[in-house]
Amino acid sequence: MMMNKKTGNPGASKVHKKTDGSAKTGKNGVKSVKLSSKTDKERTKTVKSGARSDKAGTKTGKPVKNSTNSVKTSSKTGKPSAKVTRSNAKSDKVETKSVKTRCKVSSKCGGCQFIDMPYKQQLKVKHDRLEGLIGKYCEVGEFIGMEDPDHYRCKVHAVFTHDRKGNPLSGIYQEGSHKVVPVDACLLEDKKADDIIATIRGMLRSFKIKTYDEDYGQGLLRHVLIRVGRNSGQIMVILVLTSPILPSKNNFVKALLKAHPEITTIVLNVNDKHTSMILGDQEKVLYGKGYITDTVCGMEFKISPKSFYQVNPVQTEKMYSKAIELAHLDGSEEALDCYSGVGTIGIIASPHVKHVTSVEINADAVKDAIWNAKNNGIKNVTFYKNDATRFMQQMADSGDKADVVFMDPPRSGATEEFLNSLFILYPKKVVYISCGPDSLARDLGIFTKNGYRVTDCVPVDMFCHTRSIETIVLLKRADIK
Ligand code: SAH
Repeated sequence: MMMNKKTGNPGASKVHKKTDGSAKTGKNGVKSVKLSSKTDKERTKTVKSGARSDKAGTKTGKPVKNSTNSVKTSSKTGKPSAKVTRSNAKSDKVETKSVKTRCKVSSKCGGCQFIDMPYKQQLKVKHDRLEGLIGKYCEVGEFIGMEDPDHYRCKVHAVFTHDRKGNPLSGIYQEGSHKVVPVDACLLEDKKADDIIATIRGMLRSFKIKTYDEDYGQGLLRHVLIRVGRNSGQIMVILVLTSPILPSKNNFVKALLKAHPEITTIVLNVNDKHTSMILGDQEKVLYGKGYITDTVCGMEFKISPKSFYQVNPVQTEKMYSKAIELAHLDGSEEALDCYSGVGTIGIIASPHVKHVTSVEINADAVKDAIWNAKNNGIKNVTFYKNDATRFMQQMADSGDKADVVFMDPPRSGATEEFLNSLFILYPKKVVYISCGPDSLARDLGIFTKNGYRVTDCVPVDMFCHTRSIETIVLLKRADIK
């Protein structure tokens, strides 16, 4: 069998306890677990992943010696107009390549590879890719797309630095590098979040706040991270500084709130390490509760600065509903929610099953998940803070059973050991939610060799204008009709 590339996994070591600590049953029957030390694994990384834009040959402004292509794009629709002009070598006139794009920094930042492609075509390109990867296992269903695919990101990150003259800059890392591309407004990001970032940038001089210089390791402000609860209207601003001391803190907070009264909480996070992680360990609440809540599928969820939460709330709602619909639950099931984040899928599925066991590695996310279950009056979910692979091995070793498994691993997919243990549990159904089509294809290959068939595949466009693909797949035991 294939080896999983994911690093840091405990691998095949045999562990007999289910949790890292002792499990306690709290009020409402929601089990809380003693949390072990924090992991760096899932903290937001600052280097953008993914490859360059698919737009071939669209460098702008460069004189071309013999022939030139100029593709015009309508700024309204983003559609490339069919007009392609070509001058030949005989012409004295040296034309320049020019491509009108919806975002003038997209080619530098690389965060939205499909921004100039009509939305329908984006979905087709992604569908074709998915078909190529997993079409041999099942028919790839139609994409669940967005009505308005702009400004969907409710988690917005801006890196702060300055130019040679010391003027503060904020923006996005150039793809694969640590060069900052100044960005004022991004077509993917929540507009309010972008406005708040611009306001903060404008306040820096008067508050004498220096931005961070990565080369010299000097300066105070490194990043601003904003999380917006689309349904709740709550907004959390996280200022990532190299020191816990923000000069004129109270006045800074006051001025920011005056400009943006919609902000519900401001958190100071300290990151003084030379690292590609955005967030450090230390946190101080400057204003409000230190977290936001948002509503998905009728349940309220608490989101702390370090907890994972899906970036596209409109599509998240559709995705969770579809995942639960595909599982065809009848209320009798023992369900497992692996890689559960703040407990969303398990909690939303809980009214439709007998019991849910959720496992997640990030301690903050598990704390949020326990809070979320209690807050929603959910009593049939048990949470464990553990590595999903180790947890599955422990379940398999102790002969535990599950009827249905929801699994939503990071892009690298599941580990081989996770899957081997899952095959021992041998649930009737597995709902696999994937944000990594390559690892999904690899894992489906393993599933189909171990007694499962893929019956449904529904892609959901969670990351519009980018080439990233989110897919829900339903697997059923091949021996059950
Ligand atoms: N299902 C959740 C979270 C999905 S993201 C949701 O829809 O919001 C993947 C989650 O897997 C993250 O919360 C991350 O912290 C967690 N994770 C990453 N590696 C893990 C591991 N080895 N074991 C358990 N959880 C892990």
